[in-house]
Amino acid sequence: MNIPQSSFPRIIIIGGGFGGIALAKKLSKKEAQVVLLDKHNYHNFQPLLYQVSTGGLEPDSIAYPIRKVLQGYPNFYFRLANVLEIDTQGKRVLTNIGDIRYDYLVVATGSETNYFGNMGIQNKGMAMKTIPQSLNLRSLILENFEQALLTDDLHERDALMNFVIVGGGPTGVELAGALAEIKKGILPKDYPDLDTRRAQINLVQSGDRLLPAMSEVASRKAERFLEGLGVNVWKNIRVADYDGKCVTTNTDTVFETATLVWAAGVQAVGIKGLDAKEILARGNRLKVNHFHQVEGFEEIFAIGDVAQMQSDDFPEGHPMMAQPAIQQGRSLGENMVRLIDGKPMKPFVYRDKGSMATVGRNKAVVDLPKFKFQGVFAWFVWMFVHLYFLIGFRNRVVVFINWVYNYIRFDREARLIIRPFKKQNQADRSKLMQD
Ligand SMILES: Cc1cc2nc3c(=O)[nH]c(=O)nc-3n(C[C@H](O)[C@H](O)[C@H](O)COP(=O)(O)OP(=O)(O)OC[C@H]3O[C@@H](n4cnc5c(N)ncnc54)[C@H](O)[C@@H]3O)c2cc1C
Repeated sequence: MNIPQSSFPRIIIIGGGFGGIALAKKLSKKEAQVVLLDKHNYHNFQPLLYQVSTGGLEPDSIAYPIRKVLQGYPNFYFRLANVLEIDTQGKRVLTNIGDIRYDYLVVATGSETNYFGNMGIQNKGMAMKTIPQSLNLRSLILENFEQALLTDDLHERDALMNFVIVGGGPTGVELAGALAEIKKGILPKDYPDLDTRRAQINLVQSGDRLLPAMSEVASRKAERFLEGLGVNVWKNIRVADYDGKCVTTNTDTVFETATLVWAAGVQAVGIKGLDAKEILARGNRLKVNHFHQVEGFEEIFAIGDVAQMQSDDFPEGHPMMAQPAIQQGRSLGENMVRLIDGKPMKPFVYRDKGSMATVGRNKAVVDLPKFKFQGVFAWFVWMFVHLYFLIGFRNRVVVFINWVYNYIRFDREARLIIRPFKKQNQADRSKLMQD
């Protein structure tokens, strides 16, 4: 990997997401050789992926080069590498570009879509976890309308304009809201010769309320906002299968659709060599103690979505969200410095700063530890927080300008089919969906 030997201990971080970057920043000026490995050369700001899928933002504005984040820091090395396996005995990381020895290893590989073994949905549905997947979805949505314009078959036309989003968490809610706004504000102008009033946006939630991780008032309000936008909210329905044309459920309800978006589950990204049953918790997450050490290892740590730290307040581990990942990265950074200095580490305590979701223009829900509010002010808070956490000054400016422009013009100008998404046969499609 062309990384020099150093007198400092070598810390390898796998993953330049929220957790990995926060950790690397904490360590970058310390007496440690930090090697960050990621299969992408950019940090992906996942909370805004739905805006890429719906033409509100260009992908470049939510991605940031990992090298630039840590430019100029001494003893820091980034390698574009796909980590394949951990040799815990030999303390080596095996990657597609070679092997590397570690003194300390931090797994921050995040999470991936969980289809719960349903191959129909995996092969025929769309996921939205990476930038390529969001671009695929953007293309598919636009291609559907182009195709709907051409067909004489009303049944087929309706299916092309029928969208089914599975999962009533923030991702499903935000995507459904954005599609409803496109239907209302953009489609009639873009496709005057198509009866776009027939377009349907269906949000299917297996539980009895949307945004189950938020307060009841936030759930109720989000549902009301969505219904106001014309989204069909289906609760207490579990999607059973999808064959590319028809979504079946555990009830009599069936959806004829060319587009199913699966936003109903995630699981940790596992790595071979660190996959013994005893160290895995629900959703494939690695069990860690309060110092982020993976069960059974003193020199291997895990943070972010991939880690499950049980506590009285969080018996299932911290939520798989950006804040826990960032706070864990910072805390581990401080602890690693203590470890290197021979001082005792401090246990991690998560400070819940609240959660939020946006439904659309002037419509968001915010739950802070002491206040809960919804509507226009919540929407401004949502925008401010997302701009604040977005990495890179340029990205913040570009996103801000885009939002102001879209707000004034009621528009989303990134509705471009740059990379056509062709529905393939099952095997090819599955390959194409991998990032
Ligand atoms: C659509 C969507 C919307 C979301 N919205 C919100 C929101 O509004 N608020 C919120 O708090 N959270 C949100 N989240 C969740 C949030 O993005 C995650 O919780 C957060 O990214 C977790 O950070 P992480 O550092 O654990 O992992 P990630 O940020 O996912 O980073 C993991 C990194 O590891 C790399 N990697 C994985 N495997 C390998 C490998 N084998 N080799 C090399 N590199 C590898 C990946 O390329 C990636 O860069 C959303 C997620 C999605 C998908």
